[in-house]
Amino acid sequence: MMMLTKKMIEIRGLLQTVGQSDSLTLPSIVVIGSQSSGKSSVLEAIVGHEFLPKGHNMVTRRPIELTLVNTPDAHAEYGEFPALGLGKLTDFSQIQRTLTDLNLAVPASDCVSDDPIQLRIHSPNVPDLSLIDLPGYIQVVGRDQPPELKERISQLCEKYIRAPNVILAISAADVDLANSTALRASRKVDPRGERTIGVITKMDLVEPERAVSLLNDKKYALRLGYVGVVCRVPAGAGGGKLFHRGSGNIQNAIAKNESAYFSSHVEFAPEEHVEVGTRNLKKKLMHVLEQTMAASLKTTSEAIQRELAEATYEFKVQYNERPLSAESYLAESLDSFKHSFRGFTESFGRREVRELLKHELDQQVLNLLAQRYWNRPFDDLSPPFPETDPLSSLAKADPEGEDSIWKIKLDSSSAALTKLGVGRLATSVVASALQRNIEFLIANSRFSAHPFARQAITEASTAILKDLSYDISDELEICIKPYKYRIDLEDSEWAKGRENVTAVLKEELKVAEAASKRLEELMGGRKKVKDVMSFIDRVRGGQVVLEGDGVGGAGGFSQALLSKGREAVFLRDRVDIIKLRILAVKSKQCASRKNKYHCPEVFLDAVADKLTTTADLFLDAELLSKFYYQLPRELDARLGRGLSQDEIDRFAREDPKIKRHLDVVRRKDLLEHVLKEMEGLRQLEAREKRAVSRR
Ligand code: GDP
Repeated sequence: MMMLTKKMIEIRGLLQTVGQSDSLTLPSIVVIGSQSSGKSSVLEAIVGHEFLPKGHNMVTRRPIELTLVNTPDAHAEYGEFPALGLGKLTDFSQIQRTLTDLNLAVPASDCVSDDPIQLRIHSPNVPDLSLIDLPGYIQVVGRDQPPELKERISQLCEKYIRAPNVILAISAADVDLANSTALRASRKVDPRGERTIGVITKMDLVEPERAVSLLNDKKYALRLGYVGVVCRVPAGAGGGKLFHRGSGNIQNAIAKNESAYFSSHVEFAPEEHVEVGTRNLKKKLMHVLEQTMAASLKTTSEAIQRELAEATYEFKVQYNERPLSAESYLAESLDSFKHSFRGFTESFGRREVRELLKHELDQQVLNLLAQRYWNRPFDDLSPPFPETDPLSSLAKADPEGEDSIWKIKLDSSSAALTKLGVGRLATSVVASALQRNIEFLIANSRFSAHPFARQAITEASTAILKDLSYDISDELEICIKPYKYRIDLEDSEWAKGRENVTAVLKEELKVAEAASKRLEELMGGRKKVKDVMSFIDRVRGGQVVLEGDGVGGAGGFSQALLSKGREAVFLRDRVDIIKLRILAVKSKQCASRKNKYHCPEVFLDAVADKLTTTADLFLDAELLSKFYYQLPRELDARLGRGLSQDEIDRFAREDPKIKRHLDVVRRKDLLEHVLKEMEGLRQLEAREKRAVSRR
């Protein structure tokens, strides 16, 4: 018969993982009793070890779902907390400490929690049993305890002692049974005493005749009867002072002590038909639990079938019966990400790198031109530079003179461009473009709903790029080194530069004009801008003398308006200069590279183009191809092989939609599995019944 209980307890455990539905469980034995009634001692006598939290004022705050698993062939005894993943604990004092910690973790203000602690104990010395230890009833609330504690404990116990659970009501022999809180609570929910086992502890503390009369109590007669026990651990046996807590097995010591007591009093002799002793209690518990569980098999089976029908329906309607597991979801997501990454690698090659770099260098060229050619060394408040027409200065320059200012200017500008750290700049521009694209791919992938994966991919890509960039930027710098000393241009390169820089200047002109327009709107219209600008021009021309430094406004204009006005003047001048320079570049003078000193825009553009060509070739070969090769492999390592089952589950469940889908699949699978087990169980039960009737 024992096989049956074991199986049923296993199924009970499985059902616990399906969910906390009242009808979806098999009954258990619920242990209640007031504080100090000897409840812990009884449980420890059954287990054979001290393992429950004790000590001054230690109130159990959470139910303990204690599953005892009989392992006849194993010597080792151990406990495990399935929810904590601490592994097998062979030291029972560690179990005791863990339980104490779990109890203390419930805030005192909450009093008690109805979230049970699961504890499984495997041992050859325990019967197969499923017990639930509840907080002991308290009579008087301690000074440092919340006043509602008493009520909360009663409520918690009430919830657990409902049918079909079996109630193990613990009362001490030295307290009047009429005052037993456990029996009173049990009587409320089981008035006819059909599913309550009475345990009278501390039998040794009263006269044997009185003890016997307790076991024969008629006031609250129990169909399952009363059992008397003496569960005190004798001094020196495990719990005694000579041993440290929880070390050895105390079963034999208790049994010896108990049987010595009962056999020394004739009142407890077998012919008196009173039930005494822990050993008998254990037998009774096993028998009652098996009967009760077996009796619930049918209703529980039906409840499971109902739940399964619901889950199957949901699976069909909501998910079109699409199978899903955390692993398959991850694998598919990773594949589809790698697929989109491959698509990206095909669309982002040397040409795209070139565009990026050229654009970056165009900006650098514009900056250099602005600093070295187009600038006018005055500010708003100083006299204006007399020469404002670059075309006229260009005409006057002597291009043949060796030390011509224009030659020096162009050489130094070109050197500034080649020495600005193109290696580092180009590498980092391309690396950040790659990183931006990866972020874009993530945002448009399934991984967007998964912070964990998002981070893993971002980190993988940053790490690879960082690693590659370090060497690549140095090597690239070496590749462009020759240009730092000498730059020879072909006619075709000159022509190309001329064409390109015209486009760049036109674009820049558009930008400056658009900025002017925006500023105009901000300042309140063209007329206003004109007024402010003409005032600033007059200050610059010396026609108007500012008092002080103009802080606080001047000429009837506020400080804010003046500063916007200065911006407007700057932009107007920039627009003027760019227009002039476009004319210059387009002019015949700039058609030939011989006039390079007077056409710095064209020359610098051609240099930028040479640098770009070297860099794009190098970066395509070194950065892109290596990154494209390494990233998918790194992703496999970080999101594929490298993840544990737990991590995969956690990952998949980050997406609430997937979590719901997985839950339905899991629930359905579990229920199907449990149902099959139940079916097997019922066959086993029928076989055993037939065997018994044949005997
Ligand atoms: P709980 O608060 O209900 O869990 O009670 P405990 O199991 O901690 O027991 C309370 C006290 O009663 C402890 O000091 C035990 O040693 C003692 N005790 C428990 N069972 C017996 C027993 O059968 N006989 C005697 N004399 N003392 C017992």
